[in-house]
Amino acid sequence: MIKKELLGRWTTEKSEELYGIKNWSAGYFNISAEGEVTISPFGCKSDVNVSLMEIISGIRQRGLDMPVLLRIENLLDSQITHINESFRKAIRELNYQGEYRGVYPIKVNQQQQVIEEVAKFGQRYHHGLEVGSKAELIAALSILNDKEACLICNGYKDEEFIDLGLYAVKMGFKCFFVVEIPGELELILQRSEALKIRPNIGMRIKLSSKAGGHWTESGGDRSIFGLNTAQLMEALDLLKSRNMLDSLKLLHYHLGSQIPNIRDIRSAVVEAARIYAGLVKEGAPMGHLDLGGGLAVDYDGSNTNFSNSRNYSIDEYCVDIIEIVQSVMNEENIPHPTIVTESGRVTVAYYSILICNVLDVARFEITQIPETPPEQSHDLIKSLYYILKTMTLKNIQECYNDALYYRDEIREHFKHGKISLRERSFAETVFWNIISIIAKEKKKMKQFPPDLSDIESAIADIYYCNFSVFQSVPDHWAINQLFPIMPLHRLKEMPERYAVIADITCDCDGKIDSFIDLHDVKHVLQLHEPSENEDYYLGIFLVGAYQETLGDLHNLFGDTNVVSVRIYPTGGYDFVREIEGDTVADVLSYVEFNPKQMLLNFRETAEQAIRDGNITADERRHIMNAYDNGLRGYTYFEK
Ligand SMILES: *Cc1c(COP(=O)(O)O)cnc(C)c1O
Repeated sequence: MIKKELLGRWTTEKSEELYGIKNWSAGYFNISAEGEVTISPFGCKSDVNVSLMEIISGIRQRGLDMPVLLRIENLLDSQITHINESFRKAIRELNYQGEYRGVYPIKVNQQQQVIEEVAKFGQRYHHGLEVGSKAELIAALSILNDKEACLICNGYKDEEFIDLGLYAVKMGFKCFFVVEIPGELELILQRSEALKIRPNIGMRIKLSSKAGGHWTESGGDRSIFGLNTAQLMEALDLLKSRNMLDSLKLLHYHLGSQIPNIRDIRSAVVEAARIYAGLVKEGAPMGHLDLGGGLAVDYDGSNTNFSNSRNYSIDEYCVDIIEIVQSVMNEENIPHPTIVTESGRVTVAYYSILICNVLDVARFEITQIPETPPEQSHDLIKSLYYILKTMTLKNIQECYNDALYYRDEIREHFKHGKISLRERSFAETVFWNIISIIAKEKKKMKQFPPDLSDIESAIADIYYCNFSVFQSVPDHWAINQLFPIMPLHRLKEMPERYAVIADITCDCDGKIDSFIDLHDVKHVLQLHEPSENEDYYLGIFLVGAYQETLGDLHNLFGDTNVVSVRIYPTGGYDFVREIEGDTVADVLSYVEFNPKQMLLNFRETAEQAIRDGNITADERRHIMNAYDNGLRGYTYFEK
């Protein structure tokens, strides 16, 4: 063991670099001298660090199984503070005359606990909520009580939704209806007249500015929501004709989520600021400019305009927005509006980590092959074998091409019955020997042929991990989003294996085989050889935004256990909340099974087995116990 460490001279610094933790963690995660991932919720000003392995051991002692979604409450607080303080600083330094009011869009993570904490931590900044449906409005009204905070109602609204929003206005909430489609306005005016409550109206606009990136589709002329300028003028005229222009108080747009390029953000702000000015000149009181979401998270830590990154900091984002709005308003001679943003992703992404254990590894191992091919082998096999024996650094590309050719030919001959099963198996072994030699040789080459760029992934180990991609990281499956993934311990040791990750759904899409990298996307992840006597833990980071509620019940893997931790500035921490994940009975009842009836049915089947003489009554008891325990158990792999 010692010898190996000396040989590898691996250090925690090397792990830091390999997994890029300093680049993507925003200072919240580090590696300790012991080689474990730690959480530093108070940033570099404080030396409070809590080891994730220590938390895992606490979770284990409390009897909860993996996978666990770990929430670090403080990180919500820190992110809300970060956004608000950045805007305040920009406003101060540029001498902007308006204010900033953030709102948290509930859809990004609707867990009651999250919204409650946003309301609690956000109170000192009057951070409000954004809702996109009736259900979200009802949720928001049960939690929000700050009358200074904004409550922004987006989404398609029916009468019930509108009435509830109007009552909120009457109760003193700063509740805005954002008109998403032209037809909505008439209904708002009707309900307002009926209830005799004057609404605060906002208009959502379609900008001509568009943004690049995975999720950004709301911008541009063809976006599904928002009014174009002609519709905007019609709406304005309708308000005028009904003597309701004084209700128009907000302009809104949302370009889409995760906008990686600051240029797209800037150009949208310029356009929206001009439209805002136009509305003021038409006589609308306005006062609020709502720029929607889009503030991106740097998932891969590359600080570029790649779709999983962003080429700007939160500070730059704030300064750019304030600067642009200020200069347009000054030019147009219009008072500076209150700036509203609806950042969801950046508020909650950092706060959750999915922790899972590795259950098994399918190693890529090549079997030794005999010195000579079997007697009377087919010529194709001899040729393949010849490649193995004559390969050098110089002819590596040629060998690779030939090996592929012979392997495919051999498979074809096998299908036609011209090559035996044993011969084919020998050929496959030779082929994988060739590939693994090429992969080894490639490391010595300064430059290698492009064909070989991904060869490591062909010979990677498969690490089977106790989680479901579909339930816990659905965006990886759906849109190939990258999340930082790394071991939570053993970071003083060199990770010697090259791996891809498989979940336990047994679905061929239930895997992770693209990983963050500073310059590219990696197709293998370096991991440690799991040891016999200790569980090996991986963390999937930055999963707090969108993943939880987009997740589904593929293969009936349900919600994971959830544990929330609060860390104190003195260094201590508490387990503040535990939510047990779904049981098998829970997920079955989601798809309309009735667990009680299932037990009855199965009991009947077992009783029949007694009648048929297959089992004894005593055996029935054991079988029924097993079935019952299964129903009550966790849907994931239990120890
Ligand atoms: C989804 C959404 C947001 C959140 O965007 P993020 O990029 O997560 O900050 C904000 N506003 C509206 C209208 C949305 O639909």
